[in-house]
Amino acid sequence: MLAESLSKLETCQNQANGKADSGHPEGNSVSIGTPRIHEGYGFRPPSGISTPLIASASAASESLVPDSNGLGWPGKSVTYNRISPEYRPAKSTYSRLTATNEEKAAREKKLAEAVRTILDCIGEDPNREGLLKTPERYAKAVMWMTKGYEDRLTDVINDAVFMEDHDEMVLVRDIDISSLCEHHLVPFTGKIAIAYIPNKLVLGLSKLARIAETFSRRLQVQERLTKQVAIAIQEAIKPRGVAVVMDATHLCMTMRGVQKPGSITTTSCMLGCFRTQQKTREEFLTLIKR
Ligand SMILES: [Zn+2]
Repeated sequence: MLAESLSKLETCQNQANGKADSGHPEGNSVSIGTPRIHEGYGFRPPSGISTPLIASASAASESLVPDSNGLGWPGKSVTYNRISPEYRPAKSTYSRLTATNEEKAAREKKLAEAVRTILDCIGEDPNREGLLKTPERYAKAVMWMTKGYEDRLTDVINDAVFMEDHDEMVLVRDIDISSLCEHHLVPFTGKIAIAYIPNKLVLGLSKLARIAETFSRRLQVQERLTKQVAIAIQEAIKPRGVAVVMDATHLCMTMRGVQKPGSITTTSCMLGCFRTQQKTREEFLTLIKR
């Protein structure tokens, strides 16, 4: 659906522009209609590599894609053949996405058993009254907190791409984010601001938050989450630029380890004109501080 509507839009756009490719401020030649690589993208690779690969020294950060299915990152066909199979998502990632109700139940049961083991290991009695239902409860909770593995970004964005003659910045800020740190499996929470400057296509406003929600409901590191949101928008509507800034507090920092309560981690990802034009970037930064 998305691909179809996008290619229709692309046709209109090309007719309007009188050229074959809508182009990109940084000379990226990827066209809007790239359906295959949108399929279910956004999963991280099973290899543990959490940073995108640089396809070539001259490549803009937008063209970084570490897996051929477009699942590790929002992908682009331009790098499709350069991707090594090792970046394809884990079997368990696929099977969760396609699970039947019985398989889901079996998965939760297995998870609850593992939680019982945790309780035992930390020196608790899994059979005492207060803990009796904890494994099942936790299993349900953690499946919910990682439900982003069951979302295809295509479905999230679908039907929310519109042609609009608007070329000023679109900004949604103070979007609440809760995610799980993949290093410690404890939460990090914060706020994210997302801005883009349209290039004939706009995205339904609520979809910006939905995209952030989808990626945050997976195991994450804040850096990757920030970048995935930006690249997803870049992929979906090919705007002139995308800016994403996230402030978050990590429980793994405040509750354990260095124990620095109140510390805030800020990450940002600037693409297109937000990266190349200082004025645009400054406008964005001023707007989000207001
Ligand atoms: Zn952590």
